[in-house]
Amino acid sequence: MQEIVAEIDLHALEKNLRQVEARIGTRKIIPVVKANAYGHGAVAISKHLIQISKQVAMLGVASLDEGISLRNAGIKIPILLMTGCPPDGIPDLIHHNLTPALFDSQTLALLSRQAHKAGRKIGVHIKIDTGMGRLGLPVSSPHDVLDFIRKTVDCKGIRIEGVFSHFAEADLADLSFAREQLVKFKQISTRLARETGSYCHLANSAAIIHFAAAHLDRVRPGLMLYGYSPLQKKAGRTGKDLSLCPVMTLKSRVISLKIVPAGTSVSYGRTFITQRKTRLAVIAIGYADGYPRRLSNCGEMIANGKRVPVVGRVCMDMTMLDVTAVPELSMGDWVTVIGKEGTQAVWADTLAQKADTIPYELLCGIREHIPRIYHNV
Ligand SMILES: *Cc1c(COP(=O)(O)O)cnc(C)c1O
Repeated sequence: MQEIVAEIDLHALEKNLRQVEARIGTRKIIPVVKANAYGHGAVAISKHLIQISKQVAMLGVASLDEGISLRNAGIKIPILLMTGCPPDGIPDLIHHNLTPALFDSQTLALLSRQAHKAGRKIGVHIKIDTGMGRLGLPVSSPHDVLDFIRKTVDCKGIRIEGVFSHFAEADLADLSFAREQLVKFKQISTRLARETGSYCHLANSAAIIHFAAAHLDRVRPGLMLYGYSPLQKKAGRTGKDLSLCPVMTLKSRVISLKIVPAGTSVSYGRTFITQRKTRLAVIAIGYADGYPRRLSNCGEMIANGKRVPVVGRVCMDMTMLDVTAVPELSMGDWVTVIGKEGTQAVWADTLAQKADTIPYELLCGIREHIPRIYHNV
């Protein structure tokens, strides 16, 4: 008997993709499906996106394994390994025809040698660090960047297809640092594009939404595809304002119901004591399933259309609710953990805020073992 399910609404996914398209004209899209498509199931999400839009030209993943599992599922379009490729993964990369981000000479040499030997020409995307301070050739040494590019152009078995960078804070209302990053990126990418015929990309969801100057040749939406706004509150727009629809509904079941007197302590550490006679429900989801322990005593779920509070600490596989206001709730009933039910909604962004995290972490934390059921296929 299944006690938790994640329902994935592919119609909502499509609406969100149309919101991307509406902002970018005829540019190509690189949907970001890393971390199991932010918890939504990378294979099904990728296949659907490819099927519904001609603008989806490539997929973005964060590891070789993610790329290989998409290939094994029969996905044929180009796949960008946004984190590059580990040295011992190069044979697999070549075998599965994956496109790595490239930003170091050692990988360049290995890749060139092995690709050439295999009689192949591997497309790569040069990664530039324009201010994220993470992966990429640092723009602070433009000569090194140009040297690297020249070296790459001369390497057998390799073709520069793209050049890209990543924003550190395009989610803020104040885009001044993002503007600096764009200027620095263009100084290199324009020239590179001219000399090698490659295309450039920089925009994540936040930049797609409110920084049109950064749309360039292709865009890399992640979070907005799954129905949430990446923008900081002060940047002023929620998913709803942006006509985005959350794609995932997470549900779990009641596995115990009982009425306890006032003064009863609930869960580890006894952080909640009932103030009155209380009907307590135990729900079969906990932090091992990805429901954050930080939601202890502050989360909410929806039981039979009514909003009910999490009481006491969230446990590894169970969470308690005060369902005194829902006398009709029965054993085995489903409650909505994330999603909408009747007039009530508990969305991942609100929950994330309560748990002192971001919707990204909450969504991709929903464990792999939970079945994903696809609606509106
Ligand atoms: C995760 C990621 C994205 C997508 O970011 P969102 O904020 O989810 O749109 C784009 N590009 C890179 C390099 C990423 O790592």
